[in-house]
Amino acid sequence: MGRPALLAARPDLAAHWAQADALFPVRVTGSFWSRVDPSDRLDPLARQVLPSAEELDDPEGLDDPVGDAACSPLPWVVHKYPDRVLILLTKRCHLYCRYCFRRTFDPAEREDPTVEELDAAIAYARRSGAEEVILSGGDPLAVRDERLFDVIDALRPSVPVLRVHSRAPITKPARVTERLVRGLASRAPVWMVVHCNHPRELSPEVDEALRLLIRAGVPVMNQAVLLRGVNDDVEVLVELCRALVRRGVKPYYLHHPDRVRGAGHFALSPQEGLSLYHALRRRLSGLATPRYVIDPPDGRGKIDVERHLGSLDLSLA
Ligand code: SF4
Repeated sequence: MGRPALLAARPDLAAHWAQADALFPVRVTGSFWSRVDPSDRLDPLARQVLPSAEELDDPEGLDDPVGDAACSPLPWVVHKYPDRVLILLTKRCHLYCRYCFRRTFDPAEREDPTVEELDAAIAYARRSGAEEVILSGGDPLAVRDERLFDVIDALRPSVPVLRVHSRAPITKPARVTERLVRGLASRAPVWMVVHCNHPRELSPEVDEALRLLIRAGVPVMNQAVLLRGVNDDVEVLVELCRALVRRGVKPYYLHHPDRVRGAGHFALSPQEGLSLYHALRRRLSGLATPRYVIDPPDGRGKIDVERHLGSLDLSLA
């Protein structure tokens, strides 16, 4: 979707658009926009993707809200857990979520690793003894199929399990082609972890993309981010989790929002989140209930909010 079309729908955003876009690009796919109600100023899908004046004034936000920098042994690699290594295949996405915890990527830096950098990342992951490698980004499905398949093949047989963490099945479902799905299924076990925050994101096109993956034997899980003004409502979360399970997708994580600079307007306190989560758990089966986790700025990795509430630095969380 081009800027003129988006601004035509929401002329009230013109005043701060350029500044917000310079900090973190505004990009929305046509597919995702077709699910937005532009006449609703509080539309929960629009809120995720349209720039806001609040992004420009967030002094308490952090540039590295989950402490990735200290856990990056070489460019494009994050290694926080002994048995898992994360490789960033690109910084590009089909659509940019305004709350993204990687939104402070320096735009002056390259958007993709060089061949040498990617080779070094793969070699590191192979040597690490990791059981699982997570292909992330940006969006790992923003790279071509061949590159994705080459990376998976280069990691095997050293790395038994691959995970592709992608929002593309939700934001650009046409990206999930028969060819992509066949390629992933033939390299099993490759798990797809999608990212859907609101039940209205599950359009018929998205259903088809999820069906393709699941029918081919690619297991699919979802991670959602708890976001003020988007899904901070137990009815919305119940509907989302049930809708996912009906489609064969396991709700995996509900992430407490990270305190990334420019996303303060999405923040909730851990106590608010926990009270929502307790209400959610009372309504859902174990299968439909995600884990409510936070990735604190100290880089220790994801922890359950419930078990660690007392140890969280609430000024940052
Ligand atoms: S798709 Fe993922 S990586 Fe890309 S902007 Fe959204 S949250 Fe960030």
